[in-house]
Amino acid sequence: MINVGTDLGTSRDAVALAERYDKGVYAIVGLHPTDTEGPFELEAFRRLAAHPKVVAIGECGLDYFRLNADPAVRAAEIVAQKEIFLAQIAIANEADKPLMLHIREAYGDALDILKEHARVKGNSHFFAGTIEEAKRFLDLGFTLSFTGVITFAKQYVELVEYVPLDTMHAETDCPFVAPMPHRGKRNEPVFLSEVTDKIARIKKLPLEEVESALLGNAKRFFGIDLA
Ligand SMILES: [Zn+2]
Repeated sequence: MINVGTDLGTSRDAVALAERYDKGVYAIVGLHPTDTEGPFELEAFRRLAAHPKVVAIGECGLDYFRLNADPAVRAAEIVAQKEIFLAQIAIANEADKPLMLHIREAYGDALDILKEHARVKGNSHFFAGTIEEAKRFLDLGFTLSFTGVITFAKQYVELVEYVPLDTMHAETDCPFVAPMPHRGKRNEPVFLSEVTDKIARIKKLPLEEVESALLGNAKRFFGIDLA
């Protein structure tokens, strides 16, 4: 189980939770792109990033979905998002840990920034882009992850078919988007099996093959040894 922080407080909580277990529980630390209000706590995040239980930096990225309607405020928000994203890419480069990317309606800008600045791999979480955008991530050697949304939204079928099994992850985005048949409930890590099952059905592969491939992908991407 990998708990993903979205600000300094939840990042610290994720590390504290991981510390309570010898293995099998890990943390990701970062500042969500919609959180541009306060100053970015660079030194605090750098220290957390070096923690042995921290396996990636994020959620970080760009999110243009809920920008202010006022063009001037909107432009300032985009500048702030890019600065905070660049700071977190630098932290990931320094810690030599991958990026957990939250990108919404901003794939072009995010890809341009990543191509120029990232010296580590990344995963585009809750991927909802086009096949062309998926290809650009795969060309960078990045991975894409899918949530319970694929169990009830038809527009992901072609994308899941397209993305090679060894370049994808399954995730919950917990507590959001509970998969079928648990819609309306709080999402839980245990419901991840519904996502892997759907990937197996879309790709017409045996479930065991998909499960073992995805476990291998996660161990490789996050540098996790469960032995
Ligand atoms: Zn996200």
